[in-house]
Order: sequence, then C-alpha cells, then structure tokens
Amino acid sequence: MARINSNYRKLTAGYLFPEIERRVERFQRENPAAKIHRLGIGNTTEPLTPTLIKGLKDGVERLARAETYSGYGDEQGQKELRTALARYYAAMGADLEPDEFFVSDGAKPDAGNIQSIFSSDSMVAFQDPAYPVYVDSNVIAGRSGPFDPDRGNYGRFIYMPCHEGNGFIPDPPEKKVDLIYLCSPNNPTGAVADHRQLQRFVDYARRHRAVIIFDAAYAEFIADPQLPRTIFEIEGARECAIEINSFSKFAGFTGVRLGWTVLPRTLVLEDSEPGELRRCWLRRQTTFFNGASNIAQRGGLAVLSPTGLEECRELIGYYMENSRIIKEGLQESGLTVYGGENAPYLWVKTPGGLSSWEFFDRLLKETSVVGTPGSGFGPSGEGYFRLSAFGHRAAIEMAVESIITRASFAAR
Ligand SMILES: *Cc1c(COP(=O)(O)O)cnc(C)c1O
Repeated sequence: MARINSNYRKLTAGYLFPEIERRVERFQRENPAAKIHRLGIGNTTEPLTPTLIKGLKDGVERLARAETYSGYGDEQGQKELRTALARYYAAMGADLEPDEFFVSDGAKPDAGNIQSIFSSDSMVAFQDPAYPVYVDSNVIAGRSGPFDPDRGNYGRFIYMPCHEGNGFIPDPPEKKVDLIYLCSPNNPTGAVADHRQLQRFVDYARRHRAVIIFDAAYAEFIADPQLPRTIFEIEGARECAIEINSFSKFAGFTGVRLGWTVLPRTLVLEDSEPGELRRCWLRRQTTFFNGASNIAQRGGLAVLSPTGLEECRELIGYYMENSRIIKEGLQESGLTVYGGENAPYLWVKTPGGLSSWEFFDRLLKETSVVGTPGSGFGPSGEGYFRLSAFGHRAAIEMAVESIITRASFAAR
C-alpha cells in the first residue's frame, strides 16, 4: 500500500500567492473599473539585451550544423561557461576553479535540492523572513518537526529574526546548528550583509563545522562598492560555504532558466573527506538532472562577456531607478521603507500597527496597488509588506502616484 510523503502536509507557504490572487480577483469583481497596479511579484519584465539575444541565437544556430551540434553536455555545465564564471568571480576577488561550478537550470531548484546532500537529521537555521524555498525544501525532507500555528514556526527549525534593531541582518545562532541559509541581498527585506556580518557567520560555521548555503541571486543589484557580492570574498568561506546564484534577475533569464552553484573542493564536513561533498552534489545532479539547456548556456556566456555585463548592468540600473521612484514616493506618503538601495525589493513597515494582510487589503482597496504581505515570508515578516521594483517604468509611476494621491495614510 503506497503512502504519501506526509511532510507535504506540514507545508504552510504556497498559500501566499494563491491567497493574494483570490483577494485581487474579488476586488476586481467588486470594482470592475479599477486598474490594478502590481508591485508584488519578483519577476523580470524588460526584454533581453542585444548581446544576450545574439548569444542565444548562436546557441540555436550551433544546433543546426553537424560540426557544432551538441546533445547532452558536460555534466557540470559547458567548460567555457564555467571558466567564464570563475573569471567573473576572480574580478570580485574570489579564487575559484572552473570545476567548483555546477551550472543548473536556476537558483530555485539548486536552493531546494542542495539540502539532499546533508544528513536528514541536520539542524537547520534560517533568516526570518526568507525566500520560502529554504524552509519548504527542508520541511519536505523531514527536518522541520511539527508546525506551531500560534508561533507560526516549525519546532525543529532555528529562526534568525531580522528586524529594525539588527538592520534586518541577523546574528549567527546561539546554539550549534549544522546548516545555515543566508540570502544577501535579501528577498524579501532588501537588506545586504556587510563584510563584518558575513565574517561572523563564516567564523561561526568554521567553529561548529557548519555549512552556510548562501543565495546571491541579487548580487548584481549591489550598488555600494563596499558591500560583498559573494560569500567567497570572505576569509575562510572556502571551508564552509556553498553559493547559489542565477542569471534570472541578473540578466532577465527568469524564463530562459540558467543558474549555478559553487561548491569548493576545500569544503569538508565533520565526517567527510576533502572533495567528497562536491562529489555528492555531482552525483545528485547527474542522477536527478541532465544539465542546463545548451542554448541557455550560450546565452549565459554572452551575459558574462564585457558587452553583456555592461548591458545587464544598465538593465539593472533601470530596475533600481524604479526602486528609487517607489522608495521616494512611499517616503513622501509618510511610510517607513527599508531596502531598495542595493536590492530590487522594498520592505515597508505597515502604518498604525496594521498586520501585513490588513495593510494588503487597505492598500488594494484605497489605491488598487498589489504588494506582498511580509508575514508570508516567515513570522518576523508580520507587520511588513514587500514591494518589488520589477516592472515597466510607466506602470511603476502610476502605482506610486496612486499611493501618493489616494492612500488614506499618506501625509498630504
Ligand atoms: C528569484 C530568486 C531566485 C532565482 O531563482 P531562479 O530559479 O534562478 O529563477 C533565487 N533566490 C531568490 C532569493 C530569488 O528571489
């Protein structure tokens, strides 16, 4: 008799976006003339740049000729792309070998799958709030313990609260844990950890033989040259960190699908030999995954070319100008807003002590603007609201205008 993996029944997230849609649909039904402004979704909106299109076309053309045709590729990803990635990291001051890179179809699958190479009884710590994949993948793997509906958390997980008091960057856990998920620049808070803060995590991980899983999907959005763009800028990280990254937000590849994971040979666990963990990940990927599309990989190579990088950074500049417009508009309305300077997310404190969902309803009703309730990202997200800077400029301006002129909380 087959039985279901009952850990799926413990999942709570996943309810967030369907619930948003349900409320938006009801609002639209009751207010058919209202024009909805969406500032909620972390999805890119602007077209790929010319160099990237050329790279992708080149990938297609190669498939048209016998001399350049390729089927299954190198298991870790095309050598040329991994070499270009190693060079890209070298420019940030991080020393990594091409065979420490694993090209994938995106950071989300890697962030979800990476837990499978660690012992199933590992104690896991998470930034709270966080991108839901880290928690959910560990729930499915059976590490969570029961969900406590009163506290909004899982009994066996360690939460590292992010709040105004710590600038939304937590301290390392007090207890000894085995795995730590960090995301900087952070989705949803837009906060970025500095060198000193990351060094504390690396020191903690080395002291306790813990592993940091570092999601750097928004690294290219960092404008401040003082802030670290990769955990491998931090001394000692090669012994204790795995980095997950993606071309999705960096280059607009959300639909193309291409990412990578860095797993250094020098990363050793309590009970593993040098290189063994890296081999486990290779084994995991070759067993469950057959490599990223060779067309997408030619596109990735184009991203990392000098003109590709220049164009992508210009595109990021466009989104960050959106971010500036939203932040200024909200501040003008009297709201307290964090993030949005080195990340495409703004973390808004709800006014008047409203809960995240109360603010969601109020903003929708008064201004037709849709955002994302912070409580959907973890218990410490309660009382906050996430807005995203992805969107066409005109749509962003209309949304901000609607908040400034129509929100009852706006100071006029
Ligand atoms: C969008 C996002 C990703 C990207 O995932 P892909 O699968 O590469 O599209 C990864 N991590 C975070 C925190 C994100 O917000």
